[in-house]
Amino acid sequence: MADTWGDFKSFEGKKFETFDSEFTKQTSELIGGQDLTACFQCAKCSAGCPVSDKVNIQIHEVMRMLLFGMKEVLDTDMVWLCTTCYTCQERCPQGIDITDILFGLKNIAFTKGKSPQGYVTARQGLYDTGRLYAPTDWEREDMELGDVPEFNVEDTKKILDKTGLMKLKEDE
Ligand code: SF4
Ligand code: SF4
Repeated sequence: MADTWGDFKSFEGKKFETFDSEFTKQTSELIGGQDLTACFQCAKCSAGCPVSDKVNIQIHEVMRMLLFGMKEVLDTDMVWLCTTCYTCQERCPQGIDITDILFGLKNIAFTKGKSPQGYVTARQGLYDTGRLYAPTDWEREDMELGDVPEFNVEDTKKILDKTGLMKLKEDE
């Protein structure tokens, strides 16, 4: 598991001699086989992205990395810091399903053990306890709510099983 939001922080000083066309094909298939060469690097996606000032690698750069079959894209922070707001997808003049690619990249990164530890822990915690966060009675009192209600975690597990929450495994 990765400790940070992506190990690939910059293109500076890096040389990429081998591009993987199979990886380009795999990512294109995430969006129904759309042609990634349609991206002409206008950067309209990045211009509207709400996390553009938080990431090291911008979304239009991610798109170029995909076209070139650069698997290093799985190590970029954009994969995990993307809020899936769909702004880029709405703005793309070429109609590329950019956000949908990012969902797929998250899944691929997870199976390769590249997801941040916090995601892995949160997923397990949600499955084991039915909660991502345990509210306290005093917090509820402040909001004039009653005690934290009891619930049967086995029921929530059944629901989560149906969503396939735990289906994706590392090294699939
Ligand atoms: S908006 Fe579309 S065409 Fe423009 S850089 Fe982004 S993905 Fe490429
Ligand atoms: S979906 Fe992700 S990459 Fe696209 S604009 Fe929103 S945060 Fe940025």
